[in-house]
Amino acid sequence: MKYKGMKLRKVLGYWVLSLSYSKTVYLHRYIWEEEYGSIPDKMILHHKDGDGSNNDLSNLELMSHTDHRRTHAGWSRDEDGWTHKPCPNCGLKPLSEFYKQKNGYQSLCKPCSLEASSKFDKEHIEATRKRKREYWRRKVAKEKASLHPVDD
Ligand SMILES: [Zn+2]
Ligand SMILES: [Zn+2]
Repeated sequence: MKYKGMKLRKVLGYWVLSLSYSKTVYLHRYIWEEEYGSIPDKMILHHKDGDGSNNDLSNLELMSHTDHRRTHAGWSRDEDGWTHKPCPNCGLKPLSEFYKQKNGYQSLCKPCSLEASSKFDKEHIEATRKRKREYWRRKVAKEKASLHPVDD
């Protein structure tokens, strides 16, 4: 295969272009840079349709590592930014449905996370009740045993 007279080969699903004997570059990066200029170090060129060999410019999107990770994790967005992310328990939900954390959002949505923590609370409360009941049962039994028999 040739691209503009240069050698082209496919490596792990991506086209790799040989610029010279020792210099190679991914074809998608080459195509993008020819059109828009050099790609900043911290940016990633993403294939929108998931096909690493489809290097049509309309299939390529420049994004940050964070955005790229989110895209592959199934987040969705509009022109203003991210709007939805998937909850592992119930699927895609608006970001407002998630509690914020230091580094972003909780994995579970609010209802799922409340359910998970109330299940934990219920189990905790039930265990405490059981312990208290057992304590009183023993205490009463002990006091009864220590009572001197009284005459009617
Ligand atoms: Zn990607
Ligand atoms: Zn959920």
